[in-house]
Amino acid sequence: MQLQPPRSVLEIAQKLDHSGHDVWAVGGAVRDALLGMPHVDWDLATSARPHEVQRLFRRTVPIGVEHGTVGVFGADGVLYEVTTFRRDVETTGRHAVVEFAHTIDEDLSRRDFTFNAIAWHPIHDEVRDPFNGLADLKAARLKTVGEPADRFAEDYLRVLRGLRFAGHFVLEAEPATWSALTAAVAHLDGLSAERVREELLKVLARTPHASAALMLYERSGALAQLYPELQQLAVLTVGDEPADPWRQTLAAVDAIPPTRPLLRLAALLHAVGMPAAASRDLRGGWRYTGHEVFGARKARDMMERLKASNADTDHVATLVAKQSDLFPPDAPDSGVRRWLLHVPPAFVPDLFRLRIALWRASPVERGDSDLAGRWRHVRRVMASRPPLSTGDLAIDGSDLKALGLPPGPRFGEILRDLLDIVIDDPSLNERPALLRLVREMTEEA
Ligand code: ATP
Ligand code: MG
Repeated sequence: MQLQPPRSVLEIAQKLDHSGHDVWAVGGAVRDALLGMPHVDWDLATSARPHEVQRLFRRTVPIGVEHGTVGVFGADGVLYEVTTFRRDVETTGRHAVVEFAHTIDEDLSRRDFTFNAIAWHPIHDEVRDPFNGLADLKAARLKTVGEPADRFAEDYLRVLRGLRFAGHFVLEAEPATWSALTAAVAHLDGLSAERVREELLKVLARTPHASAALMLYERSGALAQLYPELQQLAVLTVGDEPADPWRQTLAAVDAIPPTRPLLRLAALLHAVGMPAAASRDLRGGWRYTGHEVFGARKARDMMERLKASNADTDHVATLVAKQSDLFPPDAPDSGVRRWLLHVPPAFVPDLFRLRIALWRASPVERGDSDLAGRWRHVRRVMASRPPLSTGDLAIDGSDLKALGLPPGPRFGEILRDLLDIVIDDPSLNERPALLRLVREMTEEA
């Protein structure tokens, strides 16, 4: 059953072992490696105390020494987490008080799910699987270590972790685990915004088929509890059928690679304005005119509730707001430049990626044509660095003053008129031409 961790993990383990400490590889890396899947974060658990680990290795980082975790740099330059065996003394549903333990078995028994409680000894090549996690993985079963209700009550984040693992590995929760999980959903409010947000981002960043976990969020009630704006979308129906927006939302998330979690989040939120904007059309279906405006506001509220950074909040809310705003396929260059006046170039690539994902999620209903061609067009226009603001003009206020014009709000108007002209014809953006235009404009007035 030889697993193949990076060389540095073996070297760190050997050093601990030679110094008389017990050491095991644990957590996601062991689980994924046993499944034959790659995993980057190899974590070690050891009987050595943090200060002993710090003494043994030359380059360490005190990641969380009070919780037992020391970062050790491998020869490959990667920081590996080495954590002293722990056991819980007290848990509150939000955080745990731990103390150091003596055996790997104690350490494994405080872990959340059976397949996350497997340890592998890198030197003796021994697998320790006291809760039959491997069998559960093979049977595609999600099962907590020990009594489900107790384990969720110790840390309600496990509810969300369970939904993510079940989605990622396509697992069915064992009945006792599922009923405890759905009962625990009511307590998710008590988790910190940061942990909830990071967990959602893990769904988006680690799981190619993220819709599976998101559907489980919905089925378990976690969506209603944490993200009521998405829940409203999920329950929109036409007749007895779910309306398209939620299905399309999930398909659009899946159509974006996990390497772009923020864009996936924008796709997840792109339709949150639809429930508020929904009105019946003549055939009994829904129409959602103007939903982008409601949606951008709701997306912003949600990002703020999750305590996301201002930059991430702006990015997501802007993409939601601008999602339907695209120049037509036959637009001239000047039309594309005019469009760039209200879609800042920094948003353009993600806006196109979002549009392409939405189109792939439902190619028939969206009348978009030639998105790739339009993206090439806007890239070509941006590459020519066209003037897009009055600051890009070849003249400024001091030139107007030199022409003898009295400073005041009129300056701004003149510069905006000039911008309007050079948007149509950027070749006019040079001093002589602009000064001539100013003279013509001010003589007329
Ligand atoms: P991934 O890295 O894909 O999220 P992982 O299983 O490696 O999966 P981590 O958050 O990196 O998850 O945690 C490493 C290990 O620590 C887990 O496998 C699990 O054994 C344990 N663990 C992490 N979070 C919890 C928790 N909230 N409750 C109990 N055990 C946990
Ligand atoms: Mg991990």
